[in-house]
Amino acid sequence: MIDLVSRSAWGARAPRGAYGALTSTRGVKIHYTGGHVDPRVLDDHARCVSAVRGIQNGHMDGNGWIDIGYSMIACPHRKVFVGRGPGHLPAANGPGLNSAHYAVLGLVGNSGLVQPPNDMLLGILDAIDYLREHGGAGREIKGHRDGYSTDCPGDALYDWVRAGAPRPSAEPSTPPPPAPEEETMPEIVSLGLSAEVIVPPSKDYQPWWDLEWRDTAGWHPAGGQSIAPSRDVWADVVAHVALRGLVPGERVELGLTRHQPDGSLVDIAWPIGRLLSVHADVDGRVETGLGGHFKLDATARGRVTIRHTSTGPVTLETASAFKAILHPYA
Ligand SMILES: [Zn+2]
Ligand SMILES: [Zn+2]
Repeated sequence: MIDLVSRSAWGARAPRGAYGALTSTRGVKIHYTGGHVDPRVLDDHARCVSAVRGIQNGHMDGNGWIDIGYSMIACPHRKVFVGRGPGHLPAANGPGLNSAHYAVLGLVGNSGLVQPPNDMLLGILDAIDYLREHGGAGREIKGHRDGYSTDCPGDALYDWVRAGAPRPSAEPSTPPPPAPEEETMPEIVSLGLSAEVIVPPSKDYQPWWDLEWRDTAGWHPAGGQSIAPSRDVWADVVAHVALRGLVPGERVELGLTRHQPDGSLVDIAWPIGRLLSVHADVDGRVETGLGGHFKLDATARGRVTIRHTSTGPVTLETASAFKAILHPYA
């Protein structure tokens, strides 16, 4: 049974105008605050109320929206705040994306309270059920970052979304289980380099693989220095590289990047991956691993890339133990 916090109960300001109407949606998108959430909310629901009011003020006074942007908000106490509510267009999903999904916020951020407690996940599921019953919400449960360039809803909530938004057990907070791996999931292993190569200085992120990725399922055509799937996938990537010939203390950037088929850079490690900034040791060496995952398709190819501005010569000794698991992107 949903434990609703009505707008009057949380002291909501009146909306400044009429909401757009929604009779049905494909589903919901899950959000987080993107900022700091005081962990003391865990022990004090009054702090949840203050936090939601603060978000409404930010959306109305900062963003200039007519009201808080979310449809509903779930706090750590399995209470569900009515934001714009069912039947009303939210504002939080991004331009052009609000009519397809309601917007549900989990009251976690990127610092302070980061991990959603089980009761918050249950509250989010209560909100989804409510939006389905009263607002014609469809079956989809997605993250804000699906189709929009943002880190929202944070890794913890997003992992849960990707795992299918499972109902947590009654046990005290345990992290949500990882997405089950499918038997058919192609796994690719590559050694990356057949011999040492000189990496010239560049302001661009350069790939340095010469051994091609292989897979047995035909997900990845031959040629190029990229993970180049023929359909939409998530690629989980782990890489190891060793460079020498740098000036001690000098900075090198290593990243997971996305490129167009012609090699031009699309972006760095969207949406989750890593751009590592590392410094050469006293011998002028860098040896490191990096990992992350990104969404790829036929026009966005994933690479592990290096950028440095040393006068060199900088040698890439190894680029090995490189692995990708491709998940169908649903
Ligand atoms: Zn969001
Ligand atoms: Zn609360």
